[in-house]
Amino acid sequence: MLTIRDALAWASRRLEINGIASCALDARILLRHALGYSDLDVARGTTSLSEEQDATFRELISRRAQSEPVAYIIGKKEFMGLEFAVDQRVLVPRPETELLVEKTLALFGSTYGSAPPPTTVLSDESHPLIADIGTGSGAIAVSLSKHLPRATVYATDISADALAVAQESSVAHDVAGRIVFIQGHFLQTLPRPVHAIVCNPPYIPQEEITGLERDVRDYEPTVALSGGTDGLDAYRSIIPDLSTYLLPGGFALFEIGFDQAAALRALAARHLPGARVDVYQDLAGFDRVVQVSQVVPADPEN
Ligand code: SAM
Ligand code: GLN
Repeated sequence: MLTIRDALAWASRRLEINGIASCALDARILLRHALGYSDLDVARGTTSLSEEQDATFRELISRRAQSEPVAYIIGKKEFMGLEFAVDQRVLVPRPETELLVEKTLALFGSTYGSAPPPTTVLSDESHPLIADIGTGSGAIAVSLSKHLPRATVYATDISADALAVAQESSVAHDVAGRIVFIQGHFLQTLPRPVHAIVCNPPYIPQEEITGLERDVRDYEPTVALSGGTDGLDAYRSIIPDLSTYLLPGGFALFEIGFDQAAALRALAARHLPGARVDVYQDLAGFDRVVQVSQVVPADPEN
């Protein structure tokens, strides 16, 4: 019988041989998940695995060795301090997307972490209306709903499968009554203009998809990743419509690829003359969030 320590050493080596950089950490997460051991059990390492536990663990390690993301194997991912159920129907929420949520919360005078609340035109809004476009797992919509208890969030996606996952998450987090789920193409099915449009669209250029890590390319939904030839299709669809779907004084916030800020500035300058564009960097120092404000509302006569 293998002890915990032996099992971890074996699993870590097996993952390493298969090119998994986070081999030791992944082995530990999968062992804890599969066998329900405490941190103390794992730290001590001397308990022996039963035959059944050994078989279960080997099965999970074999899935990870084929690059299946840990989040799909264990069926969950943490985002904004909340646990989200995920499977292959949805993109695994990324840590850098938390910046998009934090910037949105700041606009409504709410904060996450220790930063002082900034004051913006929206901080007095008593009933914020927010749209999460391309909601996927619902990570953004649910986090915003949790932190902004008076907000109504419209969560849209083209994928019915993704909406089913997001809907379940909204129930699990007790915010289902404040999120309206809508299937449709980007902004086109939004029932009304809103104070903030938040969107992490697919933005990877089509030809880069084959070169992605296997974890992403072979397991995550292509519809969540591919942004067309140059990665900018979603922004090209959404930005011209912002003046129709934003309330006066409203904001749009987009996640972008690290090299897409200039293209977003150009799109905004072309379609939203006079709008202000701010770009924020993620923890790795890459341009990651674009905020568009001072959008002049469209003339309803036109
Ligand atoms: N919001 C989630 C997050 O940040 O983790 C998922 C973002 S994922 C990068 C992009 C999402 O946009 C996917 O759920 C995908 O199904 C959705 N999507 C792709 N094309 C769309 C379209 N034309 N209209 C609406 N949603 C779309
Ligand atoms: N950040 C994701 C990745 O690198 C891409 C997500 C997206 O296209 N919005 O895989």
